[in-house]
Amino acid sequence: MKELASQKRSGWEIYKDEAGRSAMRALADGYMNFLSRAKTERETVAAAMEQLEAAGFRAGFEGGRGFVHLHGKALFAARRGRRSLAEGLRLISAHTDSPRLDLKQHPLIEQVGVGQAKTHYYGGLRKYQWFARPLALHGVVVKAGGEALPICLGEGQGEPVFTIADLLPHLAHDDAKKTLADAFEAEKLNIILGHEPALAEEGQEAPKEAVKARILELLHERYGICEDDLISAEIEAVPAGEARYVGLDRGIVGGYGQDDRICVYTALRALLDADDPEYTSCVIFWDKEEIGSEGSTGASSRFFEYCVQDMASAWEPQTPFRRIMMHTKALSGDVHAAVDPDWQDRHEMKNSAFFGSGIAFCKFTGSRGKYGANDAHPEYLGWLRGVLDARGIPWQMAELGKVDVGGGGTVALFLAAYGMDVVDAGPALLGMHSPFELSSVPDIWSAKLAYQAFFEAG
Ligand code: MN
Ligand code: MN
Repeated sequence: MKELASQKRSGWEIYKDEAGRSAMRALADGYMNFLSRAKTERETVAAAMEQLEAAGFRAGFEGGRGFVHLHGKALFAARRGRRSLAEGLRLISAHTDSPRLDLKQHPLIEQVGVGQAKTHYYGGLRKYQWFARPLALHGVVVKAGGEALPICLGEGQGEPVFTIADLLPHLAHDDAKKTLADAFEAEKLNIILGHEPALAEEGQEAPKEAVKARILELLHERYGICEDDLISAEIEAVPAGEARYVGLDRGIVGGYGQDDRICVYTALRALLDADDPEYTSCVIFWDKEEIGSEGSTGASSRFFEYCVQDMASAWEPQTPFRRIMMHTKALSGDVHAAVDPDWQDRHEMKNSAFFGSGIAFCKFTGSRGKYGANDAHPEYLGWLRGVLDARGIPWQMAELGKVDVGGGGTVALFLAAYGMDVVDAGPALLGMHSPFELSSVPDIWSAKLAYQAFFEAG
């Protein structure tokens, strides 16, 4: 007799044969390489474009495989299908940005013999997690003449790293009584850049702020820049080092920026691996999701719209834009919260995502009464369930925590605004928004398979 009650499925169980395990492992290895080098929105787009080009995609829409980027931070890629654009696209979105510490435009200070960089944090982060850990600096400095210099410091073997010193417990008695919000001030998130003072030139006085002067000398030697060049720079402090497997069994991937590069990577792999898709398959990778999706490279901009219009005028100029949009099916690829083993009280266990149980769908996001949510239509969910179940891919349906505990938003509503069907779908993480986020190896595999099934479905 058919089992009537719903069953939870484990990716470990479903992909337990040798072929399943090795495919899962190969994808996780590739993902970790990607994660280790794509630590900013620009690096993510550059790494994605490299993969697209290797697969025969070219800038623009002259051929059947094209892509367009904006400021190297947002990226649209499309693979022409057999059906008319009038029947809509298959679209997966994801975001290229992650929470981090941005250097201020006047970052350099010197206090008590220590040279530091002042930061302004980007996105929702728990400030205490950024103290006392090795940091690297990634970004770009643009000189007044327009020359853009990519910066990457603190990642090379044997290269020095940077850090924010935390207060010793001996002198932190008063802080222990403060609330978490009060105990960690944003203006104390100052990154140590140096300690050696510049020497006085023969017959001259030592420079004022000699440590800062030495830091400027070193930056000038390496990049040919001066302090004013930092005004037109975007330098991001991110955790130093590579992504690593976690656990004796290597069952977990640990690394920075998995929200949302896990969806970028798996959606991209799915787009490249999809077998002769019937519908035109697209990915849109937006920037600025972590700070509200504003800005020219964010989801509330017109970039996506312009890309689809350009694609349609190259491939099928007679088809109206609104018709393409109204018939499109989309997945908003973003990460979900996995039930935290030590904070189970924050989750409602019947409607939560579990590590290892496959890609997580979220019918609605938002907070406190679904406020600000895209609420996916049941007809669409029914179709999607059918697509995944037909291939035996593990998936789960979940909400982000207990109803009144918190919540969050994604870019789904920006896609829904065009009239297309859209639902959130992505792997669930532990330690989301922390400097070392965790994902489950079978969930990465499940996400890639689910995205590919979505592109390939008739
Ligand atoms: Mn996200
Ligand atoms: Mn996020």
